[in-house]
Amino acid sequence: MTEKDTTEKVRVRFAPSPTGHLHIGNAHTGLFNWLFARHNGGKFILRIEDTDLERSYAESEKLILEDLKWLGLDWDEGVDIGGPYGPYRQTERLELYRQYAQRLLDEGHAYLCYCTPEELEMERKAALDRGEAPRYGGRCRELTEARRAELERQGRRPAVRFRVPDEVIVVNDLIRGPIEFDSKTIGDFVIMKCDGVPTYNFAVVVDDVHMKITHIIRADEHVANTPRQILLYEALGLPLPKFAHISMILGPDRTKLSKRHGATSVFHYRQAGYLPDAVVNYLALLGWSPENGEEVLTREELVKQFSLDRVGKSPAVFDIAKLNWLNGVYIRQADLKSLTGMAIPYLKNAGLVSEPVTGERFDWLMDVVDSVRGYLDNLSQIPEHAGVFFGDRIDIDDGKARKIISDPETSRVLNLFIKELESLEPFDREAIHTMLLKMPAQLGLSVRKTLMPVRVALTGTTAGPELPNVIFILGRDRSIGRARQALHACS
Ligand code: GLU
Repeated sequence: MTEKDTTEKVRVRFAPSPTGHLHIGNAHTGLFNWLFARHNGGKFILRIEDTDLERSYAESEKLILEDLKWLGLDWDEGVDIGGPYGPYRQTERLELYRQYAQRLLDEGHAYLCYCTPEELEMERKAALDRGEAPRYGGRCRELTEARRAELERQGRRPAVRFRVPDEVIVVNDLIRGPIEFDSKTIGDFVIMKCDGVPTYNFAVVVDDVHMKITHIIRADEHVANTPRQILLYEALGLPLPKFAHISMILGPDRTKLSKRHGATSVFHYRQAGYLPDAVVNYLALLGWSPENGEEVLTREELVKQFSLDRVGKSPAVFDIAKLNWLNGVYIRQADLKSLTGMAIPYLKNAGLVSEPVTGERFDWLMDVVDSVRGYLDNLSQIPEHAGVFFGDRIDIDDGKARKIISDPETSRVLNLFIKELESLEPFDREAIHTMLLKMPAQLGLSVRKTLMPVRVALTGTTAGPELPNVIFILGRDRSIGRARQALHACS
């Protein structure tokens, strides 16, 4: 087979359970699958694993899809778009699981188990009391027809249990190498519950087989499930897919990333104004690195360079400082027009603008965004930095700023500033810059002593965007108005 043939048939799946928002760890797994599919020209399939009826809910599926779309991880087959191996929601595939379970029953690889939850719990406790790892003791393994009939008469509904053969199972993991499991530690496990709903391990195998999945790339918390799944493939006489277990993401204290460590949902970062490209770039670097060690990579570069060979075995730690840095890089590089569009909801929320923002107002807003973007880790910080450009009045309430305003030289500075600005032609950044440069000599003061009072008068604080920018964006009238207001305050 030529290399092209092999790559063309790559089919991977991302299979979240709809039990909440898309978790950062899940998004990481989804991304690695997506990158692998796109790199190999394969298919990326979105399957929803909703067989945990108590924890799954439809709204969560919607949220997960929205977050995936926001991240830009597009899928080729899946719940909402269908495909040749659908439906792609497990609760709509119950008949298929039933057929496979029947096949395993017919061939003797599975049997009906009538044990009640209470009986199983007693068995489990007894094993724990003996200091043994609990596993199913095999009570229903060899039931006679008569005993079965009797249990049925008692009204018991059977589960289907897989008959685990005696063997050593080797998971040939693409990232971790071979991992051995002794099936003795496993114990016969339920594949179909008595309500006709499959268990995770069984549904996954049936789906992966049926959807012709070639590579199973998932978090390493599933490593212990893989031998069970391999046994099912063997019993069904089907070839194994390739397995790759990626390390889970840890919090700074090196325990599994969880709410204790702060925000863990993609939705949170989306709301806080992180850019999808930055989040994708950041997540790609958790456990994977490109050959040349670069850190800022576009989506296209990630796709081009991604390979499982460069996925590390050791867990990566979620580092919010690095995500912030990377997001800042993307904010500074972003197309100004689209960045401004993204910033509007945050400004609107803070009551600074009201939609729709169009025409000249939008152009003006682009200037505002451009002048503050260098200070941002995320867009939710924009009102705090851009606030100075809105409104007519400015409050000078920080102590340092007030001290500057009450300096005896300040009124001289502001009077000159007003006079110069009134007659400035043309009113553009360059002319403003030149005007400001001339003022210290005109006043016989240092640059700092000249420009600080102007800055404080216009913005209320001692730090912020470049002064010519501030003046240009505020416009002549508002700049003069604020300077007059400050003059008033210092007189
Ligand atoms: N539904 C499982 C999860 O969310 C998927 C596991 C798998 O990929 O096999 O963890």
